[in-house]
Amino acid sequence: MRINVSQQLKASIGSTRKYEVSEFVNVAGGKSMVQGEVGLMRTDRSILAKGTLHTEVEVICSRCLSLFSCPLTLNIEEEYFPIADVVSGASLPLPEEPGCFTIDEHHVIDLTEAIRQCALLAIPMKPLCRGDCAGLCPSCGHNLNQGSCGCSPQETDPRWSALSKLTLASDAVVNEQKGTG
Ligand SMILES: [Zn+2]
Ligand SMILES: [Zn+2]
Repeated sequence: MRINVSQQLKASIGSTRKYEVSEFVNVAGGKSMVQGEVGLMRTDRSILAKGTLHTEVEVICSRCLSLFSCPLTLNIEEEYFPIADVVSGASLPLPEEPGCFTIDEHHVIDLTEAIRQCALLAIPMKPLCRGDCAGLCPSCGHNLNQGSCGCSPQETDPRWSALSKLTLASDAVVNEQKGTG
């Protein structure tokens, strides 16, 4: 998203303009629609872009491995430094922060990269398709969100608890026999 800020660079410090954002941005290999509002504020040395945006990215659930659309809230706050003086055109020194965002010689800022970086950071480390995702059956790999698969439940079903006690008891016998033999 490109915005010409030449007028705002001439405005007084603290002046703010709001812009609607409604754009497709490439995030994590797919295009995501990003929407919201960003305010651009003139500071003594830069234009500060600040706002809250919303988007959704396609990610893989860490529990059931299915692809799903994960909603993200992006809190953007980035400073853009002019590389040229808006009146004289003379080049301006940039701060020594590596990777700082700039306003190009045509006084245009491009929010796309800041939005993309913010979205990447907002993706959860272990995404879940839903809070109570049932995951995959450890025996056959069936997605348990789509119903049970017919394998014996591993735990939690009280009807099976007697059986699991039996199994544990027989395991103990086997171990004892191994121990003595
Ligand atoms: Zn899931
Ligand atoms: Zn199964």
